[in-house]
Amino acid sequence: MKKVFSLLKYSLPLLGAVFLSATLFAAEETAPGVKGMSDEEFTPAKEVLTVKYVQLDKPYHMDVESLKGAFKDAKPVSVALQKQDKAFPNGGGSVTGAEVKAIHDGITVYFQITWKDPTRNARSIAVQEFRDAVALMFPLGAVEITPAEHFSPRMGDREKPTNLWHWKADWEADLLVKGELEDVEVQYPNMHDDFNFNPYSAYYHRELITSVEVLSGGRAANNLLSQPGRGRTVEDLNAEGFGTLTTQDHQDVNGCSHYEDGVWTVIMYRSLITQDPHDVQFVPGGNAFFNMAVWNGGESDRNGQKNISAQWHPATLEKVAWQ
Ligand code: CA
Ligand code: CA
Repeated sequence: MKKVFSLLKYSLPLLGAVFLSATLFAAEETAPGVKGMSDEEFTPAKEVLTVKYVQLDKPYHMDVESLKGAFKDAKPVSVALQKQDKAFPNGGGSVTGAEVKAIHDGITVYFQITWKDPTRNARSIAVQEFRDAVALMFPLGAVEITPAEHFSPRMGDREKPTNLWHWKADWEADLLVKGELEDVEVQYPNMHDDFNFNPYSAYYHRELITSVEVLSGGRAANNLLSQPGRGRTVEDLNAEGFGTLTTQDHQDVNGCSHYEDGVWTVIMYRSLITQDPHDVQFVPGGNAFFNMAVWNGGESDRNGQKNISAQWHPATLEKVAWQ
């Protein structure tokens, strides 16, 4: 009896381990591919975005209205969007698709993205408020993207870096105010100023109340998000996988937007070629890939909680007419 008991005693944990590994193995089998990603995600979409060559007289004001005519013959590509469901915390899902058009004039490339969003969220000063935004992502350098040549459409991979252009509705709002930074007083016009309790503060605490280092650590540390007068609405970034998003020292992208009847139209533009080794480069007559994400601040989208395309999209640039 004792022998049977000890047999049970040792075999039960062993059985448990067998069941556990069988369960893990089964879970692995239901999610083929790398880190639970399917071959479908490593296969670019079939539809190719043609970056149309147009002869463009650069408008004095770079706004959607002035650039609208230049896009009239550019063929749109529809991009399906879904909830970001791989990196924690997951989120998004309120924006199910966007339309992309692109043109170039031999010097500058312009991408126009339109999508439906019932709420215009262009301020994120209060902690419970989040901005509307859109990002385009491009692989750095010439790359092959096939199920055999993995290149994650979700922020790239280690040693497979990406360049991201992130347009933010609140950065555009900043451009329209004095000092080019909507400050806390805009959100809370009747706010109390902590430094006013002393009637002599302006005299005795002048150094303190004018010290950038004391009052704005972010600005003192040259954090682009804290800077007034950025002069742009798009952040130029790099990433090579989840959690690696990094702003660039050399900001090269700009953009403009228009919101009407529940539709955002955003145009992001940059020189085809830059001097920055961390930037994607575009050659007329050449090919590229892009992917994208959209944030709806009204649904609390922020950071990784966003609407994503889970596939790269191919693009081809028309040659300049005199080539
Ligand atoms: Ca919104
Ligand atoms: Ca750059």
